[in-house]
Amino acid sequence: KSIIEFKDVNKIYDNGTVGLKDINLTVQPGEFLVVVGLSGAGKSTLMRTINQMHRPSSGSVLVDGVEVTDLKGRALRELRRKVGMIFQNFNLVKRTTVEHNVLSGKISYYPTWKSLLNLYTKADKLQAAEALDRVNLLEKLYMRADQLSGGQQQRVAIARTLMQDPKIILADEPIASLDPLTTRAVMNDLKKLNQEDGITVVVNLHSVPLALEYADRIVGMRAGQLVYDEPINRVTESD
Ligand code: ADP
Ligand code: ADP
Repeated sequence: KSIIEFKDVNKIYDNGTVGLKDINLTVQPGEFLVVVGLSGAGKSTLMRTINQMHRPSSGSVLVDGVEVTDLKGRALRELRRKVGMIFQNFNLVKRTTVEHNVLSGKISYYPTWKSLLNLYTKADKLQAAEALDRVNLLEKLYMRADQLSGGQQQRVAIARTLMQDPKIILADEPIASLDPLTTRAVMNDLKKLNQEDGITVVVNLHSVPLALEYADRIVGMRAGQLVYDEPINRVTESD
């Protein structure tokens, strides 16, 4: 059973811009899918239709077997719990600790008053430490987020999504503002979570070489359409 399925999905923005055109796409659980294409091709729109940050204009989107295009309230929050997302600019709270940032992933789908009052349990804190350990940044627990490098901040953002126990992680140009070395650390973390935890990963990238290196499958977009969809036959270390 597929974990993400787009059927005849179209998205036309209010100003008439075509975001997505006749998208049909099926993603299997545990796939590492990279979406490539030029700026404006629709990659971000495609991604945001998975967690319903954007509603499609027509068509059907199934996530983990659930039709998501008309979800509201609790069901929408449950979808967003299941689907973690990281962004080009990390979206961390810069002037607070790494721990606090990671913990905030836990309560982002809880009532707001809990996050305002910092009502974290011991179990939450243990989970935050474990999440940070998954991205090899446990020693940064009590540092301020803005004292970390860009790549480290992105990995904190990954740890934050792990607090949701996500089935899917969406990464929207996660390495666009990083240097080659920290790029690799971020991509390796995503690959590890994909391979060891079975999390389905969807990444938007500009770099085709990087896509070839990490993806199980690459789809290409142009002008809102899927123009390419191929598995990668790669000889891995385990072969
Ligand atoms: P990419 O992620 O590949 O750069 P996007 O999905 O961001 O592409 O954008 C696809 C197209 O939709 C572009 O033409 C973009 O300008 C347009 N677009 C994106 N978001 C909006 C919006 N909120 N309102 C209107 N047009 C938008
Ligand atoms: P991205 O890196 O996702 O391509 P953009 O810089 O294209 O980001 O867009 C930034 C924000 O502006 C997004 O929320 C996007 O939805 C919105 N946006 C993009 N293009 C347009 C547009 N033509 N009209 C209105 N909003 C847009």
